[in-house]
Amino acid sequence: MDYYNVLGVTKNATKEDIKKAYRKLAHKYHPDNRNTGNDSEFKKVSEAYQILSDDKKRAEYDTYGRTFDGGMGGGGQGFSGFDFNGASGQGFEFDFGDIFENFFGGQRGGGGRRAKRGRDIAVDLEISFEEAAFGAERKILISKVSFCDDCGGSGAEKNSELEKCVACQGAGRVHEVRKTILGSISTMRECSKCGGLGSIASAKCKHCKGHGVEKRSEEIVVKVPPGINDGEVINMSGMGEAAQGGIAGDLYIKVNVKKHQIFTRRGDDLIMDLDIKVSEALLGTEKDVMTLDGAIKLKIPAGIDSGEVLKVRGKGIVSIRNMTGKSRGDLLIKIKVRTPKKLSKKAKAIIESLKEEGI
Ligand SMILES: [Zn+2]
Ligand SMILES: [Zn+2]
Repeated sequence: MDYYNVLGVTKNATKEDIKKAYRKLAHKYHPDNRNTGNDSEFKKVSEAYQILSDDKKRAEYDTYGRTFDGGMGGGGQGFSGFDFNGASGQGFEFDFGDIFENFFGGQRGGGGRRAKRGRDIAVDLEISFEEAAFGAERKILISKVSFCDDCGGSGAEKNSELEKCVACQGAGRVHEVRKTILGSISTMRECSKCGGLGSIASAKCKHCKGHGVEKRSEEIVVKVPPGINDGEVINMSGMGEAAQGGIAGDLYIKVNVKKHQIFTRRGDDLIMDLDIKVSEALLGTEKDVMTLDGAIKLKIPAGIDSGEVLKVRGKGIVSIRNMTGKSRGDLLIKIKVRTPKKLSKKAKAIIESLKEEGI
């Protein structure tokens, strides 16, 4: 969603322009408006205005596009169309159960302690058709729990010693005996004093007050590989939310590719229509044709039929399966011969004589 498009203003619109456009559209789409009310459009317009009317947010948007809040389910921003319960409609599938199991399976320490892991974050990223074709580097801004820069996540002040936790004797777990109707039950639980770490900093980091983590906005560089398809997900391991005394979760970026005005994609090939005149079809011609790499001259042979396809090799999408060789798909140009709907007297006379020629 492009906020400027939503409000129908240009990138250099003034605050006054934005306000005016918003008032008009908000009135139009307001759910109370019987004729033109539209709840989802109203929400879009309101969201766009919220960002563009605020100088700081607008500047961020101009630099990064939409920003995301890492708190899942919190702001509700950026998670549209994301399905965490398994398969979604767009060939995107993963099971968190597996991820966690594999992870913990590999990380379980000698003492049987599980490493803590921060939450995963999922965001949508809209990219242009060209960015999907050639790959791109995009910067996004995500507000999330991150490790403290000052202490690197330990929560300890620089040069301060880590002391063994007295509550658990450094084990990170404590023995607990509970009396129940079945008798005494002995259980192990995480030590609450040290959070299961077994050690405590003698002096707490001043910046994060010993938490080791803090919530802040972080710029993340996303490398979009060439040839990516609409709906595909980029997984950035360890770029999710941090966890105190543990490791960070993952960041999942679901890519939405904008439609192109001229080209549609089929695998690695691009398809486009090209209108030509009857005379051009009969005599052949040369046409300027736009490709993703700029304009080219296309030779159209005499006698071409409507519906015939001309192939321009190597002007398609970078093949994602063969990125090292950088091979590319082709551009397929479908010819459409446009028959005039009205003929002048002169033209009609000429066509009549063509008819006599058997054409
Ligand atoms: Zn402890
Ligand atoms: Zn800190």
